Amino acid sequence: MTFDKQTRREFSLRSAQALSAGSVVNALAVAARAEDHPPKPAKTFRLWATSDAHVGTDLRHHKRESLADAIRQSERGGDQGGPPFEWDVALHLGDSSGNQGSPKDDEGQEVVRQFGAARQHVREQFYNLAGNHDATFADEETQWWFRKWLDPTGENTKYSGVDAKNRPYPVEGTWERYTFRVGNLLFAMMSDRNDIGPPVGRGARGGYPAGAVTGETFAWWKSLVRKNSESIIISAHHHMLKETTVASGEWEGFKKTKDGKWQSNYHGYFPQGGPQGASYLYWIDDKPDAQAFETYLTENPGAIDLWLGAHTHTNPDDRKGGRGHVERKWEVNFANISALTKCHGHGHSTPMSRLFTFTEGSNQVRVQCYLHTSQFQPQGWYVNAECVIDLGKPFRMVV
Ligand SMILES: [Zn+2]
Repeated sequence: MTFDKQTRREFSLRSAQALSAGSVVNALAVAARAEDHPPKPAKTFRLWATSDAHVGTDLRHHKRESLADAIRQSERGGDQGGPPFEWDVALHLGDSSGNQGSPKDDEGQEVVRQFGAARQHVREQFYNLAGNHDATFADEETQWWFRKWLDPTGENTKYSGVDAKNRPYPVEGTWERYTFRVGNLLFAMMSDRNDIGPPVGRGARGGYPAGAVTGETFAWWKSLVRKNSESIIISAHHHMLKETTVASGEWEGFKKTKDGKWQSNYHGYFPQGGPQGASYLYWIDDKPDAQAFETYLTENPGAIDLWLGAHTHTNPDDRKGGRGHVERKWEVNFANISALTKCHGHGHSTPMSRLFTFTEGSNQVRVQCYLHTSQFQPQGWYVNAECVIDLGKPFRMVV
């Protein structure tokens, strides 16, 4: 929680002006009123949304610490002028790994080492999801890598460094689907299930990019949404929903060669792996193009307030498919958080993250875009991409 110092400064200024302009009696009256009714500082909650660090890829190609660099920049500022900023909770929405096959322990250890760059925050202020690149093969123990090294529920503290007791906001649920609450915000965190095997997920040839959840996860989400209509619901998954943000429509993950054949672009082209859905949440179990979430939101507009996803890495001005990174549909806000990586999918990747500032009593959220390198625009806040989104109800820090 942070308090807005501006309010105090404005109050002092007003008091000083009253003292200089008015009589002593007036000044005393102002002071007395201030004593009775001290100005209430605005309370804010700052959510730092990050994703797609692809730690192994950046380290291998450019000895770049995609995750640690971003953490250091947030706390101490960047070496190209990016300012530090305050945040209360951070999300990483998947693809901590850059592995095309099943990730290994060395990359897990590296991810944990890079989380260690934090000096003013603890590991437990980061809440993680599994992306398609974090998935293990179908014949391995289900998602062992994510469970061992990212470990949202704190079951493998020895490896992950996550101790459930240190969570500022406790996690309820499993590695695959869990919630946490901040005031009247309810976060519904859903991991991708690329581990299911072809055609849904990764097999011997590597990972397929299309997004997947199980039918149980969808049923869990639907029940959660129905039971919590008094909360501001923020759903998070590695993937965006279909036709919501930049390049999230059918086939928008690819481009065509001169002779009309599909080829990789934002995502790797795998003809066997549901390629038309490479850039959105495409599978529910083994049902392709299921659109279960989209149908629910069409029938229940405004049922949630915000969907956070990532997976499609691109610069903040890209509008492939006529959609940008932050859009509104079915009375819901959608934000593609994009990526911390510079090297994974390097044709489009622009290291960036977003800061969401929730203010006590307000239904408006300030959304800022931070560029972690200077390759697109100077490192730091990219004001052209800043916007304000509306929630269905005001934010309350205490409920
Ligand atoms: Zn991804």
